[in-house]
Amino acid sequence: MNRIVELLKGFDVKDDYETLQKYSADYGIMSKSIESKRKLPSAVIFLRRRDEVERLMEVVREYHVPIVERGKGTNTLGGAIPLKEDSVVVDLSGMKGYCTEEDSITSLPGTEFDEVGIERFPVLPTSFYMATLGGFVSGGSLGLGSLKNGAIWDNVMEVEVYTPSGRKELHGDEVKAVVQAGGTNGIVTRVKLRSVKRGKIKVRRTHFSSLDKAVDYAVDQDGAEFVSIRNKKMMSAMGYSSGGWTVIVGEEEGGGDDVAFRDLITNFAGAYYTVVNKMKVSYTSLDLPLYRLYELDDECMIDAELSKSQGIMFSHTYFLDCTPKLEGFKFDLHSVLINDRAEENRLSKMIEFKRRYDPEDLMNPGKLLF
Ligand SMILES: Cc1cc2nc3c(=O)[nH]c(=O)nc-3n(C[C@H](O)[C@H](O)[C@H](O)COP(=O)(O)OP(=O)(O)OC[C@H]3O[C@@H](n4cnc5c(N)ncnc54)[C@H](O)[C@@H]3O)c2cc1C
Repeated sequence: MNRIVELLKGFDVKDDYETLQKYSADYGIMSKSIESKRKLPSAVIFLRRRDEVERLMEVVREYHVPIVERGKGTNTLGGAIPLKEDSVVVDLSGMKGYCTEEDSITSLPGTEFDEVGIERFPVLPTSFYMATLGGFVSGGSLGLGSLKNGAIWDNVMEVEVYTPSGRKELHGDEVKAVVQAGGTNGIVTRVKLRSVKRGKIKVRRTHFSSLDKAVDYAVDQDGAEFVSIRNKKMMSAMGYSSGGWTVIVGEEEGGGDDVAFRDLITNFAGAYYTVVNKMKVSYTSLDLPLYRLYELDDECMIDAELSKSQGIMFSHTYFLDCTPKLEGFKFDLHSVLINDRAEENRLSKMIEFKRRYDPEDLMNPGKLLF
């Protein structure tokens, strides 16, 4: 029996080769540079209750065992991939349960979006049908609803997190130390999110011969659930024939077509993922201030998704099958580092928390430079 499994006696643990292989990967392996970093963990532990998390953290503290938290492993950035061979992967997808109030949802980490009702989430990842709430709060960012309601960190009201230095409860702005920190700051055991009541979304596509007109129109739609600007190459990769630039708007009670929710998600927020998977092309993403959108050129397949983070509107922009000439804040889709995707003010909160409560880097080691 390996030493780590011995330390974890009494827990639900697996260390057979097939399980270790499965838990050495997440959806991040679609990037070759992320794939090359993955290591086989030494064990996988399945936690379902808070007292089990507490007991595990005692082992972490005493024996300095590196931990990699995992929901359903659907993140595309290697967040749930172990970078160290002696890591223990902690599967939290079985820690389920939630309650709702008029304006909020309080949940354990393993709950899935469908279990609560997807119309209640202010921001919903494209992967909502296969991800956990804990995974989205810990590793997610934008999604359907982000233009209207902001990013996930704008919608988390409270977080409970277990660190090597004990249990912490964070409220208000403090939650930014943990949201999107990818488990590097501890095991998230409870989250409280703002909730909404979303009605049926209708989708309309408007075609423009010039980029300037498309951008002018798009930035005016800031009350929509989503707005995406795509060029002809991107539209054709998604199976539509169109000239110039197309603006796709999804709006509650808006004019346009009825679209099944799942199609809405794969055709809109998941468009880049759908095309990359189908055509195996290169992909990059840049967060651009809106005025830079007028400088887009037509070389790449382009999908510019308007979003809001911390009250500021910007474009989360995918460039497929080429290297963009524009410069912006790079949301690096080929890096496992949180440092390569979080804005400065949030990153500094994560780093400060990490230095204080996990200076040994036991929680998802190697993913946050601090
Ligand atoms: C097709 C597709 C579409 C996607 N669309 C979106 C999208 O629109 N928006 C978006 O933001 N993401 C998107 N993603 C990425 C990902 O699916 C989401 O971020 C998702 O919510 C992650 O949930 P998960 O349960 O799979 O978490 P995992 O992938 O298992 O984990 C995510 C990160 O959080 C950490 N973690 C997980 N649970 C905990 C916990 N309880 N405590 C502490 N740390 C934890 C992990 O270590 C990892 O770093 C997409 C992925 C795919 C494959």
